[in-house]
Amino acid sequence: MQPGDFVEIPLGRQTQRGVVWGKAKGDVDPAKLREIYGVLQVPPMAEVTRKFIDWVSAYTMSPQGAVLRMAMSVPDALEPPKPVFRFTLAQPDGESTDPGIRMTPPRKRVMAFLRDHPPMEQADIMRETGAGASVIKGLVEAGIVRRLMVAPPSPFNPPDLDIPRPHLSEAQENAANELCRKVADDGFSVTLLDGVTGSGKTEVYFEAIRIALETGKQVVVLLPEIALSAQWLQRFRDRFGVEPALWHSEVGQARRRETWRAVADGSARLVVGARSGLFLPYANLGLIVVDEEHEHAFKQEDGVIYHARDMAVARGHIGAIPVILASATPSLETLANVEAGRYGTVELSERHGVAVLPSVEIVDIRQDRPERQRWITPTLKKRLAETFAAGEQAMLFLNRRGYAPLTLCRTCGHRFQCPNCTAWLVEHRAWGKLQCHHCGYTAKTPDTCPACGAEEKLSACGPGVERLYEEAVETFPQLRIEVATSDNIAGPKAAAALIDRVHNHEVDLLIGTQILAKGYHFPMLTLVGVVDADLGLAGGDLRAAERSYQLMTQVAGRAGRGDRPGTVLLQTADPSNRVIKAIAAGDRDAFNEVELSQRLTHGMPPHGRLAALIISGKKENEVDEAAWRIGRAAPRGDGIMVLGPAPAPLSLLRGRYRRRFLIRTDKQVRLQAMIHDWLAKVKTPSSVRVQIDIDPYSFM
Ligand code: ADP
Ligand code: ZN
Repeated sequence: MQPGDFVEIPLGRQTQRGVVWGKAKGDVDPAKLREIYGVLQVPPMAEVTRKFIDWVSAYTMSPQGAVLRMAMSVPDALEPPKPVFRFTLAQPDGESTDPGIRMTPPRKRVMAFLRDHPPMEQADIMRETGAGASVIKGLVEAGIVRRLMVAPPSPFNPPDLDIPRPHLSEAQENAANELCRKVADDGFSVTLLDGVTGSGKTEVYFEAIRIALETGKQVVVLLPEIALSAQWLQRFRDRFGVEPALWHSEVGQARRRETWRAVADGSARLVVGARSGLFLPYANLGLIVVDEEHEHAFKQEDGVIYHARDMAVARGHIGAIPVILASATPSLETLANVEAGRYGTVELSERHGVAVLPSVEIVDIRQDRPERQRWITPTLKKRLAETFAAGEQAMLFLNRRGYAPLTLCRTCGHRFQCPNCTAWLVEHRAWGKLQCHHCGYTAKTPDTCPACGAEEKLSACGPGVERLYEEAVETFPQLRIEVATSDNIAGPKAAAALIDRVHNHEVDLLIGTQILAKGYHFPMLTLVGVVDADLGLAGGDLRAAERSYQLMTQVAGRAGRGDRPGTVLLQTADPSNRVIKAIAAGDRDAFNEVELSQRLTHGMPPHGRLAALIISGKKENEVDEAAWRIGRAAPRGDGIMVLGPAPAPLSLLRGRYRRRFLIRTDKQVRLQAMIHDWLAKVKTPSSVRVQIDIDPYSFM
């Protein structure tokens, strides 16, 4: 038995599976030791993977077992795969034996066929020769044909490295060469591929992938939302001539099993995954690409709380391999690492071909007022009309699902609140329901107010995409308009179908939430209207400005990607806001500079370190009591600041009461050790959960 072996062991009365981690410390009573049942027939877990799991466990302060479980997420994959049977002639020429049975025409056909082919599966022989299963069985019994048991073939074909790449522009060529050098250098490096939307980042990092594949290694590309990445996947297939191994929540059980094994035995050379793809047991990983590295979707918010981009860098370091981070709007953390010289950078400052970046205009909704209970300003309306008249497409962006964010009774002012969360219910008129966007609770929209009994007095406040759709249909009744949100574009199929419809110009106007901000490429889409540019800024958390800047830049990046120039209109009530101004001016550097200097003033990341504790439980008094005790034991010292306990903004979530601490420290403070020592001093009842969030992105 070796470290890394997958084993089956007795644990209490159960049988458990695990990985041999190394020598025991000798602190267990020998009388309690039990024999393992056996080593499983799987390639052992590589040392890099085990080191990575240890590192993630220490960094995120999660138990090793919880992290290991992410790497063993397909228990079935540890079962030996079902063997495959193939048939071949017992004698190569098939004639030197005396048949001893009557040579019927079907038997002759099978023998002739097998003489000319490598060992074949029964179904293929039957199809090719028209012989029945009994014919093959008879030949096997007579000893003329042999049945061979073979390992099932890998479902993944090796990539085709000879497919010619597109002709790259000079800037792209330089960028690609730089990345390829990093890959060829072999060893740890992180490079930011920093290019404006539509500059061809994908084409450029495809080159680096090709170089890594040429050396026989595996490559993983992490994408924030694979289910919505049909266009990207098609380009990938075209470029490498094979189906990559996909790894995300929509992949079915059987496929997960095959994929896990193929990654472990090295036959899956190309993996495209969501954040959990990082935890697969790679046999020989040679390159990690994180596309849209700024995306918050890379942060896993429950279980083991981690940021996949940061873990990717750690995985690269432990495995001594290059990492490429791509974005048009890199995170401030990444930019700070570039600034400090820890990461390299490669830039693409122009769009590919004749496409130019869209012009961005601000529409001041205080002057350019929409009608009452309407959200499209006269200016936006006029521009939409012009766009459609020119035979082009447009998109309206509003990051709010449902009909209206708030529903209230006009008689008594009653509002609908979620029974499980500190949140208002959102009306989804298309379903006739009210829904909580935090826990998914739904209730039928009532006809009468449950508080005062008034009939038909419920009133929608503010717009959601459904309501915007209503307005758009009224304004442009002759157009083909579609709404795209996570409610109706849930899976890869729905997303691919929508993309096709837009591409084929079966849609004139697309209305949607942030799912439309992703890397889509629609050449005829020339106008983007951001209906409420102030929305993302309202929250005011640490990253609100940064997130809003990134999101709006990405949305704007959908306009004018073909040969017709694009325009973006930002509707705002606060035109002097620095985020709005920076987007309008296309001045990313200025925005980042101001944002970074503000973070510096407050010692916030990337200048300082941040962690959160979330104390939760079903009984409010227990939670308060535990939070109070933890607060009393809070560490003090130079460069350490602890805020809390405070009720979380979502002080009730899925039926659990929540209190938060926010911990800010200077860079040199050993944050994890400090939190570890702190929590070790406090006993909390098992009914209260204490979650640790290192580098928090959500402050809810
Ligand atoms: P980004 O990822 O930077 O937004 P993409 O890689 O998606 O940019 O490129 C934008 C569009 O331009 C895509 O449709 C892509 O196929 C096309 N493109 C980029 N570079 C080239 C090239 N060298 N030759 C042909 N088409 C290109
Ligand atoms: Zn809820």
